Amino acid sequence: MSDLAQALASLEAAAQADLAAALDVSAVDAVRVRYLGRKGSLAAILRGLGGLDAAERPLAGKLANEVKTRVEAAIGTRRGALVAVAQAAALAAERLDVTLPGQPVAMGRLHPSTQVLRRICQIWANMGFQIYRSRDVESDELNFELLNIPAHHPARDMWDTFYTETEGVLLRTHTSPGQIHAMREFHPEPIRVILPGMCYRYEQITARSEIQFHQVEGLAVGRHITMTDLKGTLISFAHRMFGANRQVRFRASYFPFTEPSAEMDVECLICGGSGCGICKQSGWLEILGCGMVHPRVLQNGGYDPSVFSGFAFGMGPERITMLLHRIDDIRFFWGNDLRFLEQF
Ligand SMILES: [Zn+2]
Repeated sequence: MSDLAQALASLEAAAQADLAAALDVSAVDAVRVRYLGRKGSLAAILRGLGGLDAAERPLAGKLANEVKTRVEAAIGTRRGALVAVAQAAALAAERLDVTLPGQPVAMGRLHPSTQVLRRICQIWANMGFQIYRSRDVESDELNFELLNIPAHHPARDMWDTFYTETEGVLLRTHTSPGQIHAMREFHPEPIRVILPGMCYRYEQITARSEIQFHQVEGLAVGRHITMTDLKGTLISFAHRMFGANRQVRFRASYFPFTEPSAEMDVECLICGGSGCGICKQSGWLEILGCGMVHPRVLQNGGYDPSVFSGFAFGMGPERITMLLHRIDDIRFFWGNDLRFLEQF
């Protein structure tokens, strides 16, 4: 019996010494296998219990269990300490210096025409107009026929465009076909929408004309809408866009889809009306075209022209941007020249 106690005591002492010498977690695990594993030292000692007297066995078993518990606890403690040390070392090695300045991110900016387009949309939104998106690729019927521009109409000369290989399918020359889409979607409810988007013309590219440009179309349809509403609404827009004291005037004009039609001028933004090179000494700048929706167009949109009336208008954000920033060549807009774009 005292031999057994001796063996257990030296096993425990050896295990403690090995643990103290273990410098990492895998060394600690090896200690566990060596002393407490199925083929370990303790198991070997326990196998020797069979040779003891029956009276001695319970005490011997108790002794062995106590040693086992103490060695297990020591292993757990040592393991925990080594894990903590390893974590602390890893944290120190991978430390992030959050005070270092980051990589600078280059700031982009909006295209000048997008800036003006957004300002126009915002003003109309404040005036109760919804933004209505319409497709760039249109049918001849929507782009021309339903807007009162039949095939033989001389106005078609002003709107030559790009045709697809599918007959009757083309790139829209103006945002006006959106009027028909909006009316057919909303009739017989009243409408107040603006239709911003890209338009296309088959034209010689010059300082004054491009093959693509933005347009913002507007449409109001309802009962008892008159020319007075058109004028009041557009004057209010001009004051919000160009300044509350800006003078405006309307000149009679012609569009196939409005009757009567007009163009609106604002007092020159550059000279204030006294005359300069930009306004060709007239003191006025043309800003938009407008008119009362033609009864035939109303009908094509699904509204009864004897009950409903409406007005429409269209303006070019690039033209307005050119006036606001005194840009004298429309080709800058799609030329992708950073020297131009970085000025805005
Ligand atoms: Zn002027």
